[in-house]
Amino acid sequence: LMQLSVPLNFIGFIYREIRQGLTDIEQMFALLDVKQEVVDQPQARPLAVSHGAVEFRDVHFSYDPARPILKGVSFEVPAGKTIAIVGPSGAGKSTISRLLFRFYDIQSGSVLIDGQDIRDVTQESLRAAIGMVPQDTVLFNDTIAYNIRYGRTDASDEEVKKAAELAQIGAFIDRLPDGYKAMVGERGLKLSGGEKQRVAIARTILKAPPILMLDEATSALDTHTEQEIQAALDLVSRGRTTIVIAHRLSTVIGADEIIVLKDGRIAERGTHLALLRKEGLYASMWARQREASEAEERLRIARESD
Ligand code: ADP
Ligand code: MG
Repeated sequence: LMQLSVPLNFIGFIYREIRQGLTDIEQMFALLDVKQEVVDQPQARPLAVSHGAVEFRDVHFSYDPARPILKGVSFEVPAGKTIAIVGPSGAGKSTISRLLFRFYDIQSGSVLIDGQDIRDVTQESLRAAIGMVPQDTVLFNDTIAYNIRYGRTDASDEEVKKAAELAQIGAFIDRLPDGYKAMVGERGLKLSGGEKQRVAIARTILKAPPILMLDEATSALDTHTEQEIQAALDLVSRGRTTIVIAHRLSTVIGADEIIVLKDGRIAERGTHLALLRKEGLYASMWARQREASEAEERLRIARESD
């Protein structure tokens, strides 16, 4: 019983924090990250976003000093461009998204937005500038409208509806008996991974941040859902600095640069065509995914003709 009391208290604490109304969903993730390692510097200024350029400069990072995760990662995302990060699971891709959000401080190197080190600015202003669509979206136990409006709390009903439609979730909501007033979350309607992700996209469309960080859905989604989500993501990222962590390589063909991360280092980088010509890691990942999706397609056709 003693052992249980601490986590229960903590859950109570989080619950009360949420009830009191956080100004940003991302702060909840920060709360869930038990160790509060990151603090604002006394002289921290608000981030001044002029164009939204992002740079990782020789970033070294480990969660645990005994096990380095990122071993000198450098890349630049010019304002309005899209870069994709691909690579095997455990390579450190999601870690990069957590570092841009400054959930952790890095051991050496720097992370810059429009030339400002993110350690020198307030966390609130940093997180206001970035729209994050995480792999697993957590929904509040509230209405679906509330969950979408969270992106910008002063948005009108019309704006919420428009965002939902752009995120390809509008028709789904219209079919619910309670529509936008339907309760979701653990104690309400359970949404699928793809539906939750589209709620997160709708939220991000409302927030309209200069920088986007998308951790794409896993291959657990069927191809049709994946394509709908892709269409929604393409729409939000237009004209915004975008970093997309991609599981399906077919979604990154158009990226301005693709970074192949392996064991915490950049193994290869370039455009889709340049990487294919290299016949290295990316090319073999591409070939493997092609084979898998062709096999899936053959299976589908065989099933339909039965
Ligand atoms: P990817 O997204 O490329 O699959 P991650 O960035 O999530 O990889 O993880 C990179 C490595 O860091 C993995 O080995 C993972 O186990 C480890 N890791 C991730 N999060 C934590 C954490 N909070 N504490 C300790 N190790 C972690
Ligand atoms: Mg990941």
